[in-house]
Amino acid sequence: MDTIQFIAEYLIDPLVAAREGSNHRRWLREFEASQYLSADEISQLQEKRLHKLLTHAYANCPFYRERMDRAELTPDKFAGSSDLSRLEVLTKQDIQLNGEEMIAINYSRDDLIPNQTGGSTGAPLRFFLDRERKYSRRASTIRHDRWAGLNIGTRTGVLWGNRADFAPQPTLRTKLRTYLYDRRLILDTSDITKAKLSKFIDRLNLYRPTVYLAYANAIYLFARYLQEKQVVAFHRPESIITSAELLTDSQRSLIEEVFGCPVYNRYGCRETSIIASECGQGDGLHISAETLYLEFVRGDRQCEDGEVGEILVTDLLNFGMPLIRYRIGDTGAPLAGSCSCGRGLPRMRIDGGRITDFLVTPDGRVVSGASLTIYLVAVVPGIGQAQLIQETRERLLVRLVKGSDFGPGSIKLIETKAAELLGSDMRLEFEFVDKIACESSGKYRFSISQVDPLEYLL
Ligand SMILES: [Zn+2]
Repeated sequence: MDTIQFIAEYLIDPLVAAREGSNHRRWLREFEASQYLSADEISQLQEKRLHKLLTHAYANCPFYRERMDRAELTPDKFAGSSDLSRLEVLTKQDIQLNGEEMIAINYSRDDLIPNQTGGSTGAPLRFFLDRERKYSRRASTIRHDRWAGLNIGTRTGVLWGNRADFAPQPTLRTKLRTYLYDRRLILDTSDITKAKLSKFIDRLNLYRPTVYLAYANAIYLFARYLQEKQVVAFHRPESIITSAELLTDSQRSLIEEVFGCPVYNRYGCRETSIIASECGQGDGLHISAETLYLEFVRGDRQCEDGEVGEILVTDLLNFGMPLIRYRIGDTGAPLAGSCSCGRGLPRMRIDGGRITDFLVTPDGRVVSGASLTIYLVAVVPGIGQAQLIQETRERLLVRLVKGSDFGPGSIKLIETKAAELLGSDMRLEFEFVDKIACESSGKYRFSISQVDPLEYLL
């Protein structure tokens, strides 16, 4: 630990917490301890939190009260998590149509924090968090970060495709905060050019981060670039955390080979924050089980250990707008047995996940498909679902499922946004469909490109 990191963790973070009234340090202490509880104790904690959540949702959220009445599953009849399957699955469309009725009436709207997502299935979504959930989310992210050597104040290189996630105003105060506390070098990978990659190398060499936190596709492309260009003088971190997109085994091997350090993959989403991450030992990802209750289902039945099914998430700690049995659109499998790291947190394997190819613009920039889900899908009203297909460098097919408030303005806004992100020479063609199918593997591909991005970066 260097001096600044020590100051960040033990001096600045408590000050920030006090100033913001944030409870994240309390949650963090709790999660640091609870991860080593036995599997049974963690499961008991989940049952308790589940019961509390359902009791709250029944009393305060008209949407859930109606659902629970229909299922004859009132809180007094709820005997445990095995009863949960009597409740209908919560779809994105349910949230799009009934979001208001899902917000708890005992929370003031001013106290809720709005958020939105392009989602892993290309469908936009608006939702709210209560304040305490914001703090527990922060804490569980720090807890999982620490497994990969990323602590409060650790010097981090962030190769990220969503500028809005890290966009402080460049004031003296934010600069100071970046230097002493956040300690992140943000490299925007939403669009990549040759010149940008070579600048990334220089900036990382200068900043020398201990950890890289990266969109899986972005760090993979960066690794391939370093390899193909036979770059020798580049900074190697101690570990790399990949996130936001599916990481294939071959991508992982190449990244580990080029940077000479382990990759820790993680799985999460904007709706629930971190869901699971690797600990560096054994197989699979440990689920953040104190904050989320996960189900893996095939139709009406729960999966066996190791069997792949749809992932349903119940957020145990967001009381402002509960998400109960939320079908997130990914597939995965629960894993049996214990992990050699000693944590009692259950493990899973991620099978699906968002697959996004890079797109190449007519002016030769390489644009992250994962970024486009945020810049395009999340902000344009009336998109039920979307998929981008690039067949040639100048032509992009936009495949759309119309949502309820789709209108002429939606197309216009897509055109404006696309011109901003991809340049005005990209020719857009629209195709309207009833449904966008997943690949035969069950994976959803938001962007598909037949153009190899590396050709434009070497
Ligand atoms: Zn482990």
